[in-house]
Amino acid sequence: METLEFQAEARQLLQLMVHSIYSNKDIFLRELISNASDALDKLRLATLQDGLEADTSDLHIEIEADSEARTLTVRDNGIGMTHDEVVELIGTIAKSGTAELLTKLKEAKESPELIGQFGVGFYSTFMVADRVELVTRKAGTEGHGTRWESAGEGTYSIDDAPDAPIGTSVTVHLRPKDEEDALYDYADEWKIKEIVKRYSDFISFPIKMGDETLNSMKALWARPRSEVSDDEYHQFYRHISHDWTDPLEIINMKAEGTFEYEALLFLPARAPHDLFQRDAQRGLQLYVKRVFIMDDSKELIPDYLRFVKGVVDAADLSLNISREILQQDRHIQMIRRRLVKKVLSTIKDLLNNNPEKYATFWREFGKALKEGLLNDSDNQKAILDVSTFASTAGAEPTTLAAYIERMKEGQEDIYYLTGDSRTQVENSPHMEAFQAQGYEVLILTDPVDEIWVEAVPDYDGKKLQSIARGNVDLPADKDEPQPEGDFAPLLTFLKENLEEQVKDVRLSHRLTTSAACLVSDSDDITPALEKMYRAMGQ
Ligand code: ADP
Ligand code: MG
Repeated sequence: METLEFQAEARQLLQLMVHSIYSNKDIFLRELISNASDALDKLRLATLQDGLEADTSDLHIEIEADSEARTLTVRDNGIGMTHDEVVELIGTIAKSGTAELLTKLKEAKESPELIGQFGVGFYSTFMVADRVELVTRKAGTEGHGTRWESAGEGTYSIDDAPDAPIGTSVTVHLRPKDEEDALYDYADEWKIKEIVKRYSDFISFPIKMGDETLNSMKALWARPRSEVSDDEYHQFYRHISHDWTDPLEIINMKAEGTFEYEALLFLPARAPHDLFQRDAQRGLQLYVKRVFIMDDSKELIPDYLRFVKGVVDAADLSLNISREILQQDRHIQMIRRRLVKKVLSTIKDLLNNNPEKYATFWREFGKALKEGLLNDSDNQKAILDVSTFASTAGAEPTTLAAYIERMKEGQEDIYYLTGDSRTQVENSPHMEAFQAQGYEVLILTDPVDEIWVEAVPDYDGKKLQSIARGNVDLPADKDEPQPEGDFAPLLTFLKENLEEQVKDVRLSHRLTTSAACLVSDSDDITPALEKMYRAMGQ
């Protein structure tokens, strides 16, 4: 037997669990069932796709409670783990972002949502246990199984388990009863049934206690919306997303005919911490006729909609479809196009009918959605339709359509100015004349704004025009010549002295209080974009 130390981050997280920052401890059982269900999916998939020889005729999850011994065991006959996998998967926290979670948690004491966002999973057992044992044996390997045990302090022990059957069993040694409220007796069968029903009813494998199957196993996406409660949808959302916050919007889709599929999608209510990290998990779950095929299927949804969570169940794909084939499959491409349209139309509905939800959506995901303006030219217009922007017209963001309605007589273009912050943009000298003459200017402060404005020529026939560019004439100025007159000597002086720095020095009507401002040639990149390229080392 070996005794090993938990990795530092894992230890910190365990401390949080032992001291139970969660008020809802029931979820530990959901986490164990969720892991067991994943393990069963993996075993079935390995037999389908990798030719693994294993008996998959009776995949199931078993719960055993012993109220005398105060133990609760969750057992599956799924894929199991090797010795090294146990050390790697259970002894460390491989997930990126855990360090970030820990600092955030220290800042904000009571924040169960944060935990949910990071899905602490297996470690949540230490909320109710003073000792946890895990016995496992990997399918398709020779030799013995592995036993792991820990009291959730700094160390765990690991040992051979010669007789372990294939699969995994986790035994939770519940803390003494007097510490807990009677409501939280997890060795009580009634309590267990209630939790399974509430959190894990949709799990597609039977969850058995004795002879009884506790869950209905109905695929949620296959049931009519009217028959499914919000709570059921929310539990399912948690299962697939590891997000503790309820979703903002639920989207059901069903296509019949030549190519059948069903989809159940969710718009989350908050952005994950890694929304802008390259290695973040993204994509949807793919099922074929109720059989789980893969997580994170990026082929089903474009990158700029990576925040969308959910499941697509396609009827006509082969069960052993690979990622490579998925990329080329025209049915998948068709589903993807439909999902994009549906998501965009859902956002449009929010914009028109539920301003509050829309505002949440836009605050959390607007930045990501705008990436689509660059990458998805087919839907550029639809994305602009549901985008809103800060503007000099007021505190609330505006749609482009609303901007156009407010345009002044003679104004042809949509004016915007990019910058780092609203204050910076508002105080820019470029703004003066536009402000003075009452022209509305969009204030674009997201880094991605610099780039998409270059890619989008116009909206509804109205050109998007940066007011930092050379030849923006205010409509009111157009007919007025700008005689150099008395300023000619000054201009010549400035041109000569600034030869190295600027291309030209001109008189301008743009300024009302500042003495001078820098503008770019119409074809030049904007100053902010220049800064961004420089920052990127180009
Ligand atoms: P997550 O499920 O989000 O990955 P967990 O902490 O719940 O995180 O589990 C960590 C890992 O341990 C899982 O990803 C899986 O690889 C492994 N694991 C946990 N439970 C089981 C199980 N019952 N069978 C096989 N592997 C498991
Ligand atoms: Mg898990």
